[in-house]
Amino acid sequence: MTRVYNFSAGPAAMPLPVLERAQAELLDWHGTGMSVMEMSHRGVAFTSIIEKAERDLRDLLAIPGGYRVLFLQGGALAQNAAVPLNLMAQGAIADYVDTGHWSQKSIAEARKYGDVNVAASSADANYTCVPARSTWNLSPHAAYVHVTTNETIGGVEYFRIPDTGDVPLVADASSHILSRPLDVAKFGVIYAGAQKNIGPAGLTVVIVRDDLLGRARRECPSVLDYAVQAKAGSMFNTPSTFGIYLASLTFEWLAAQGGLDAIERQNVAKANALYAQIDRSGFYRNDVRRADRSRMSVPFFLRDDRLNGPFLEGAEARGLVQLKGHRAVGGMRASIYNAMPLDGVLKLVDWMREFEREHG
Ligand code: PMP
Repeated sequence: MTRVYNFSAGPAAMPLPVLERAQAELLDWHGTGMSVMEMSHRGVAFTSIIEKAERDLRDLLAIPGGYRVLFLQGGALAQNAAVPLNLMAQGAIADYVDTGHWSQKSIAEARKYGDVNVAASSADANYTCVPARSTWNLSPHAAYVHVTTNETIGGVEYFRIPDTGDVPLVADASSHILSRPLDVAKFGVIYAGAQKNIGPAGLTVVIVRDDLLGRARRECPSVLDYAVQAKAGSMFNTPSTFGIYLASLTFEWLAAQGGLDAIERQNVAKANALYAQIDRSGFYRNDVRRADRSRMSVPFFLRDDRLNGPFLEGAEARGLVQLKGHRAVGGMRASIYNAMPLDGVLKLVDWMREFEREHG
């Protein structure tokens, strides 16, 4: 068996020990004689799995009391609808910060349900930065303020949590959740599709402050209603049981790495190595403002687009795969989530140097 270094933006590489553990337990989970996939979601065995998943996630992120953790389905894009349906009363207004592709998706979805004020946008800067908080034009009575704390395509990350006063801050944290500590108390809602740093696609984690439950609009689908799902322990409908199990194994793996402080140190080392190589000469280029450069999503361009094909081919031959940039922007993108070891990044850096020597 040869495992590659997989730089995919998501579904993304998972930690090898997690996959090995799942493999070992696949046919017979803890003497139950069945796979987690085959269990009743309401049985004793699965109840212990989902409860442990929640406990471990709470420990990792230091989620304070007064927040509920929901394990839902439908991805981050379902949450783009769930957020307004839960938090925006008829006729209310919500503020959104536009930092690129994924915030635009959130804005377009919210517009189906109410008034959206784009309080700030980095469009003028070609989406290469987080607009300074001092420039945000917030509505006085907004239902919430929505931010995309890591733009997976643009490679822009919030390293400061903006202060929005009494207005709940809502974050799509899909592509950097669990990559570093996050002060959950500053948020009303945090949501994330699992398929980058948590587990397989098909699971969505939602962390929601208690006082935001029970405000959903009448037309909000019950499966998306935070209060309904909180009351049902995320089991208003059958949850993504195997996804929750793999998430739970990932949380255990993260704790064994030393938790989020430790994984952040690894992520800083990985990102520094890659950006240093990108910046070393004019051959490669990343346009994001240094202070806002994502540690998870690293888009970069070669000096000459005609070199993209040969670069990707050579990378693939070295077991470095899925480096092709998003079709909307072209170039390359290295997603270096928690499960990407430093060694994978160093192998990529070596290849970038070699390629530059040949073609620079
Ligand atoms: N938001 C962000 C920041 C993302 O990176 C993605 C997926 N790449 C999405 C939303 C969409 O997530 P999903 O496909 O899980 O709905």
